[in-house]
Amino acid sequence: MSKTTEQKFMDLLKEQSAYGEAIGLMAWDMRTKAPRKGIEGRSEVIGVMSQKVHEIQTSDEMRGYIDKLKNKAQDPILKRAVEEAEETYDKTAKIPANEYRAYVTLQTQAESMWGEAKSNNDFESFRPYLEKLVEYNRKFADYWGYGDHRYDALLNNYEPGVTVEVLDKVFPKVRKALTDLLKQIKEAPNQPDPTVLQGHFSKERQAEFSEVILERMGYDFEAGRLDETVHPFAIGLNTNDVRVTTKYDEKDFRTAVFGTIHEGGHALYEQNIDPKLAFTPLADGTSMGIHESQSLFWENFIARSEGFWRNHYELFKNYAPGHFQNLSLEKFYPAVNEVKPSLIRIEADELTYCLHIMVRYELEKALIAGEIEVKDLPELWNQKMEDYLGTTPENDSEGVLQDIHWSGGDFGYFPSYALGYMYAAQLNSKMREEIDVDRSIEEGDFHKIKEWLTENVHQYGKMKKPLQILNDITGEGLNPDHLIDYLTNKYKKIYQF
Ligand code: ZN
Repeated sequence: MSKTTEQKFMDLLKEQSAYGEAIGLMAWDMRTKAPRKGIEGRSEVIGVMSQKVHEIQTSDEMRGYIDKLKNKAQDPILKRAVEEAEETYDKTAKIPANEYRAYVTLQTQAESMWGEAKSNNDFESFRPYLEKLVEYNRKFADYWGYGDHRYDALLNNYEPGVTVEVLDKVFPKVRKALTDLLKQIKEAPNQPDPTVLQGHFSKERQAEFSEVILERMGYDFEAGRLDETVHPFAIGLNTNDVRVTTKYDEKDFRTAVFGTIHEGGHALYEQNIDPKLAFTPLADGTSMGIHESQSLFWENFIARSEGFWRNHYELFKNYAPGHFQNLSLEKFYPAVNEVKPSLIRIEADELTYCLHIMVRYELEKALIAGEIEVKDLPELWNQKMEDYLGTTPENDSEGVLQDIHWSGGDFGYFPSYALGYMYAAQLNSKMREEIDVDRSIEEGDFHKIKEWLTENVHQYGKMKKPLQILNDITGEGLNPDHLIDYLTNKYKKIYQF
């Protein structure tokens, strides 16, 4: 018996996701275990296989199935899979093939030029590459089309439904609240002493503690593993193989503890997607922002809370032999929550982090609109850092060159980080109406929390769009008040103002 169009379409998606899994596994290997000399060749293999995925996504065969099944599919998974395949097809097909190839080559060159420019503190050497990347992104946005703002076309790649109009309503409010809070914190009578956290913490013990915490969060080690890397990430190969990586700093335990929990939050999302979505593009997080809401929820709302440490401080001491024997929880907890504006985004505390994102958002938005040019970036960057965080970089390496994203042409991505914070705060408020979160945290029993997240977020994968998930859970759209209230209450208590 010959196969139906439906079956043939699903087979093609399966082929696409098989390549995706192979690429993911190679990428994980490259960043954890692969010998140094193997990396160059491996990158080429990944390039070849990515090209294959691209060919499948834009093939006449795919277009044919989409046209036949569109508006006819009854099954909800099939229906969403067709929609998703069509979105990808349209997005890719709108870019002329020769421009796409030139762009991919440019990305690779720009990324290595960025690495050099950053270590040599030499923005000028990177500038021509960044100018071309910006030019391409302006063009792509025009191909894709947009409503009010050209930047909307790029935002749509990461956070469908969120526009400049939405962000420009929300971000200034958050910025005002955060800068006000920051001012009060600086003048507050009670300043935490982070030096009490100093010491030497062996990698091995840190790894053991990381495993214990992941286990408690409900991370399934039978369907995942924990490894060491330089730039931590979590990767879902399929729902039964979701891997976490972390980094151990023997002088600062916070890197691994909060880093592992953060990546663990991403991993829980991927492990708990409905298995029915396997081998389709829907077996993935619905957006960068929702993904980040999961990691930030666990990292900040759980692991940086007082209740978490009330329960875990004694346990933690077992993994930090010789430390903290005379340090009370009343000194330890504020120290791990110290607020200190930093130049580097990835070192930022939970309060100032969003301000870093706003610096980048405003610059990206103006760049893509053509209101500013690449040559203006270093000066504008430094000015905004001073305005929002009260700190000015001494050089471009710790300023405009610090993040890798732009070198890969990832414009429109940064806002997802701040959106993730706001989503997480909204989920936190709602979850607290429905279950006793504090009790779960203090008892170290996170099952109810994990189940709530699975039921409301994880299981859907890409079946729902980000704002639909948010709306179905909370009954409202993006609302920054939850984040502002949470941060205000927390830091008022810690800094006593
Ligand atoms: Zn993350």
